[in-house]
Amino acid sequence: MDEARLRATLADRLAAVEERLRAACRRAGRDRGAVTLVAVTKTVSAEAAALLPGLGVLDLGESRPQELWRKAAALPASVRWHLIGHLQRNKVERTLPLVCCIHSVDSVRLLKELEAQAASRPGGVEALLEVNASREASKHGFAPEEVSALAPTIEALRHVHVRGLMTLAAYEEDPERCRPTFVMLRRLRDRLREALGQPLPQLSMGMSNDFEVAVEEGATLVRLGTVLFEGLSAGEGG
Ligand SMILES: *Cc1c(COP(=O)(O)O)cnc(C)c1O
Repeated sequence: MDEARLRATLADRLAAVEERLRAACRRAGRDRGAVTLVAVTKTVSAEAAALLPGLGVLDLGESRPQELWRKAAALPASVRWHLIGHLQRNKVERTLPLVCCIHSVDSVRLLKELEAQAASRPGGVEALLEVNASREASKHGFAPEEVSALAPTIEALRHVHVRGLMTLAAYEEDPERCRPTFVMLRRLRDRLREALGQPLPQLSMGMSNDFEVAVEEGATLVRLGTVLFEGLSAGEGG
């Protein structure tokens, strides 16, 4: 696909997603501005991803740190990179300077490593705690019942700013069946917020299959890949 056709296809898909986001916000009585679209570029090339800022999408997500490093080097500095997949502690140092938010903090060990490394960064780093709400063994994240007990650990942080929670719902043919997962994440956030006495504004939930239900339940960050990029060129990093 040449660049002009690729750009036109992306523009069409973004317009369709935008319409669906607006409709979901309307149904929930929410402001469209309260929801940020994070375009998950893991299946496309850096060249394809580089078209997004020109189409008004500056928030991009990658699930693998190495792929984020690669694309961040190729794309303009105006991009806000979100790491949405597992981060090994030995990759923290190289990842921190590149990201605006790490959605996938899945252990206290990682939280402590981030705290140590972010100390040398002005402004520290924003992070979300990943919750394995569907309890699938293949997924990372804190168990739902562990979340409230993290309050003292979070309170002790100076350089990691925990801004909310993130989850992946299990795939369901009928996205309505994902709703209980999103409700659970919102309630866990509310409970943790009470324990902390500080705002936790972000709920990162909703993917291509279920983002409208997630928005209805309070998502502030939706992470969309397939609905934008299906059938488009594969990136070298996969
Ligand atoms: C790949 C990925 C997404 C995007 O999923 P789609 O179903 O393709 O929209 C969202 N979140 C995470 C953590 C991912 O790894």
